[in-house]
Amino acid sequence: MRTPLIAGNWKMNTDTAGARQLASAIASRADEAAGTELLVCPPNVYLSLVRDAIGDAAVGLGAQNVYPEANGAFTGETSTDMLCDLGVQYVILGHSERRHILGESDQDVNKKTLAALKAGLRPIVCVGELLEEREAGKTSEVIRRQFEGSLANVSEEQILSTVIAYEPVWAIGTGKVATTEQAEEVHADLRNQLTSRYNAETAEKIRILYGGSVKPDNAEQLLSQPNVDGALIGGASLKADDFLAIAAAG
Ligand code: 13P
Repeated sequence: MRTPLIAGNWKMNTDTAGARQLASAIASRADEAAGTELLVCPPNVYLSLVRDAIGDAAVGLGAQNVYPEANGAFTGETSTDMLCDLGVQYVILGHSERRHILGESDQDVNKKTLAALKAGLRPIVCVGELLEEREAGKTSEVIRRQFEGSLANVSEEQILSTVIAYEPVWAIGTGKVATTEQAEEVHADLRNQLTSRYNAETAEKIRILYGGSVKPDNAEQLLSQPNVDGALIGGASLKADDFLAIAAAG
């Protein structure tokens, strides 16, 4: 069975004191989420202090982006080696904010995914359609294109270290959550694509997270869907109580 993964994407939020406090609060209550894997993804500048605040607690550390080179002349970027050096285990890639605000293409996401895997980081590769794409009946086509493009050349061994996150863009930070049917339909479609590309046994092992306005009051329904294996949480991950309540629903 797949262990649910509850991941907090802090985005560009918190400060030194706030990041330490949030990480400590989650770490001190991590046992409330027994049977669920917890992960926090703070801004890069707070990775070290969050790692220290987590200490030995069962909470993973993730970054929100990486540059697809080990090191070198890439002003302002953070390398795969740097993240590994800081004890980072996961990295969110292809988040819709990076795709749509910062112009990342599937090809960019693919380069980052392959580099992260090569460095030993576990990528959380995000896919998701815009509202107009859903309304035009193109959800499945968009998700397939993003899946194919972002995960090109990922081997069977590598996909086993990879997590996929479905985040409908229209549900992110809007309070509009996908219905359980809408989420399950895309998740099942993603699992079918994994089966076609790899095989059923491998596809059954890959976790597919849902993200987009996940809150304590809708988490249980979403997480009860057969192909929803956890959540990628934005706003509600900034409050330890809400984050842990979502984890407890998993
Ligand atoms: P919200 O939970 O704030 O809608 O954000 C979702 C998200 O983008 C997580 O990566």
